[in-house]
Amino acid sequence: MDLKDLYRDVIVDHNRSPRNFRQIEPPRREAEGLNPLCGDKLHVYLRVSDDRIEDAAFEGSGCAISVASASMMTEFLNGKTETEALDLFERIHEMLTGNESDMGDLASLGKLAALSGVRQYPTRVKCASLCWHTMKSALSGGDTVSTE
Ligand code: ZN
Repeated sequence: MDLKDLYRDVIVDHNRSPRNFRQIEPPRREAEGLNPLCGDKLHVYLRVSDDRIEDAAFEGSGCAISVASASMMTEFLNGKTETEALDLFERIHEMLTGNESDMGDLASLGKLAALSGVRQYPTRVKCASLCWHTMKSALSGGDTVSTE
């Protein structure tokens, strides 16, 4: 199995059975993200205590890439500090839109590296990054995010 197949399988799996697909009861931080171009609509919920993300979840509907990205994101955010979450946002952003040489060590991103496959497709980059922008907004006030 080559890397591309592995990446595709990860995305198919997370789209078919999204992890943490639910709400979080208040107190919570939350934000909504919209990608009109594709029709993706995600709502991200976070429970943050003492600067640490104790729970991360999402709801919504969208294409396979947007749902899989959100599913993987919620898994990765659990137990992270706010600073770590924002660092991760930057790394994902670089992986999706930066120069190849800035992508850094993909292996350290684990399954999230599966998202690097969308680099070649600018319209899909918005699908993959939507949940990350939404998460960032949830941490910093909760404004609705739109990719357009
Ligand atoms: Zn999409």
